Amino acid sequence: MTKKETKAIQGAQMHGSSPKAVTPPLYLSSTFIRNDDGSYDEDYIYTREDNPNRRTLEKCMADLEGGDVAFAFSSGMAATQSVLQSLQSGDHVIIPDDAYYAVNELLSRVFKRWGLTYTRVNMTDLKELAEAINPQTKLIWIETPSNPQLKITDIQAVCSLAKTRNILTCVDNTWPSPLLQNPIELGADIVVHSSTKYLGGHSDVLGGVVVIKDSSDLIEKIKDIQHLGGGVPSPFDCWLVSRGIQTLSVRLKQQSKSAQLLAEWLEKHPKIEQVLYPGLETHHGHSIASKQMKGGFGGMLSIRINENVERILEISNRLEYFTTATSLGGVESLVEHRYSTEGPNSQSPENLLRLSVGLENVEDLIKDWERALM
Ligand SMILES: *Cc1c(COP(=O)(O)O)cnc(C)c1O
Repeated sequence: MTKKETKAIQGAQMHGSSPKAVTPPLYLSSTFIRNDDGSYDEDYIYTREDNPNRRTLEKCMADLEGGDVAFAFSSGMAATQSVLQSLQSGDHVIIPDDAYYAVNELLSRVFKRWGLTYTRVNMTDLKELAEAINPQTKLIWIETPSNPQLKITDIQAVCSLAKTRNILTCVDNTWPSPLLQNPIELGADIVVHSSTKYLGGHSDVLGGVVVIKDSSDLIEKIKDIQHLGGGVPSPFDCWLVSRGIQTLSVRLKQQSKSAQLLAEWLEKHPKIEQVLYPGLETHHGHSIASKQMKGGFGGMLSIRINENVERILEISNRLEYFTTATSLGGVESLVEHRYSTEGPNSQSPENLLRLSVGLENVEDLIKDWERALM
């Protein structure tokens, strides 16, 4: 079988168009010419419904995640929203207590008014999860490693529990990306990505993707939400994400390696209270992460520092190679104090900094922390 690294290169290409370009051409056209007999070439009618650059990206993502179909959206949250919109009023959703914070906000500020109820649980505890299930539960949302605490959820265990109760499972696979983790192989029905992060990889595009396996009913619903709701990415956005995917494997392998080395170094530093990185043997989810993540533990880690918030912000400002900004998954290293970004509903500890490890030389990155922690 073709390996993922190869699929990522081939899938992003668009050979066969004329003239025969190696790099995919950009189809900015919002509309396509109708043939005399009323048909459309390759069923391209109007760009909200389909576009060659979007179709290329969607096929590539379905292939990389092992799903049947993928739908691209204008952001990770637009993709997330489409999954919630496929449910109906009265349905109940279970999310992890530290799910990406906007998921909780979306449920409480938007979908509550539409009659969706939800419960937040510590998803690393299967008993707590099982107890939260009620007859209206239609969806279990998984995020692993979670943001920003890098909690590890056993995807296989949660999906098999959900199957016995006829509940759909959706995994936000943004952090590991399809290179390191394939939730569909572990039993998930839906995979969601913010392609703004590792897929795009250069902090210059917003995007989201939903990948679905084995549910024609759900596929029709998400397709309607994408085509009729219209939260779609532009052709250029799709082009950028496809280009990012071609280098995903080399980026993420290096970022995983550097994150591992930095995590090991930080763990030994006296000012560091705790390093949250699933690649460390001291991490509570190390053995589950080793089972379900392949080829690395990703480029994200969080640290808790034995200092007050003021000093912690000072430390992060002193870093030279880690830029203080939100977001993650780009070629550049970023550092963020999640608690102050997320605001009063934040589940993030106040003394936590989240790091997105970039492609700078790891010795420089370690030196940067050595200086900042002095
Ligand atoms: C960034 C992110 C999102 C949201 O994606 P956007 O593209 O910003 O809308 C969702 N989940 C995770 C894990 C993320 O990191």
